[in-house]
Parts: sequence; structure tokens; C-alpha cells
Amino acid sequence: MNFLEEKIVKEGIVKEGNVLKVDNFLNHQMDIELFNEMGREWKKRFEGKNINKILTIEASGIGIACIAAQHFNVPVVFAKKSKSINLEGEMYTAEVESFTHKNKNQVIVAKKFLNENDRVLLIDDFLANGCALQGLIQIVQSAGATVEGIGIAIEKGFQTGGKIIRNLGYQLESLAIVDAMNAETGEILFREE
Ligand code: 5GP
Repeated sequence: MNFLEEKIVKEGIVKEGNVLKVDNFLNHQMDIELFNEMGREWKKRFEGKNINKILTIEASGIGIACIAAQHFNVPVVFAKKSKSINLEGEMYTAEVESFTHKNKNQVIVAKKFLNENDRVLLIDDFLANGCALQGLIQIVQSAGATVEGIGIAIEKGFQTGGKIIRNLGYQLESLAIVDAMNAETGEILFREE
């Protein structure tokens, strides 16, 4: 087991409805030393990629992206979730359905922070069905920028997102892939890398 898998086994809680709660170190309280380790690992996995910007989505992606960015020496832009619809013009927008909240959000990035010269690393905390990532990819494409890679902390491998994103041809690096989890026993099974 790697450092993140060990942390998940120790402190993660399996909830009903295919939700893994990691509030203790990732989604509420944040373990910065762990984030730093994640950043170091992504830097290694994306070695040779010419990344000049990290794009994430609020809220939980921000902390991870900021610590990871110190390993890449690049700025972080986070897509904002907004219910407002009259933001056309200076904004790139995409519609994202939230896995955890079951609602739809418009996610937006100001045009001045993303352009065709950007080579972007996408970072997020979880990958479930892939809606959040597809929204971010759409925004990068609207800007004419390039997705150089995608770094995810925890992928739930039994949901469809990972497959969809890999089939699109992106280099997707999930630091822990949960292939099965049981809310009754609390058991968590990881994919062998
Ligand atoms: P997707 O768009 O891939 O279906 O879901 C990704 C987003 O939903 C992530 O940004 C994350 O915030 C949230 N999410 C999905 N599954 C889980 C989960 O099991 N636990 C937690 N804490 N968040 C999740």
C-alpha cells in the first residue's frame, strides 16, 4: 500500500451510497504533509510534461492543488461554482453535476486566466463518474489550451469516470484507486498498481 492508501485505510470511513468520507485529512481538516507527498508524486509521474498552470475546482481541490503547485512552480486557477447564468462574455463555463450533492452547478473560469498558450494539469480530490473532470476539460478546450495531464487523489474505480477519462486518451494519475468498498464492514479494496 502507498502512503495515501494507508491513510485511507486508517482514517477513511465508508458511507452508504458509494461515498468515502475522508474529512479527517482531505475534505475538511487537511493533512498538508500528505498533500505535499501527493504533489511530489504527481511531479514524478508527470516528469517531462511542460505544465505551466494547474486548474482545479472549488472547494476541495483547492488545497491539494496549491500544495502540488509548489512542486511544479506554477499558478493555480480554480473553477468557481455558480448558480448565476448571466456570466457569459468574459467567462468560460461548463455545467457539472455534483456526485455528492446531486445538484447541477455552472462552473466558471475567467477568460483572462486561461488561454491557448496554457498547458494545464487538472487536479481534483475525487474521481467518481467524471462529471467534474469533464467540465474542467471542456473549459480548457474552450480556451484553446491543452490538458497535459490529470492528477486525482482518490479514484473510485468501480464508478465510470476513470474509464471515460482514460478512453479519451488523457494521462490520468490517481494516487489511490478504490476498486471496492463495503459500508457495512468498512472494508476498502485498492487496485494493484
Ligand atoms: P464526479 O464528478 O467524478 O462524479 O465526482 C467528483 C466530485 O465529487 C469530486 O470533486 C468530489 O468533490 C466529489 N466526490 C465524489 N465521490 C466522492 C466520495 O466518495 N467522497 C467524497 N468526499 N467526495 C466525493
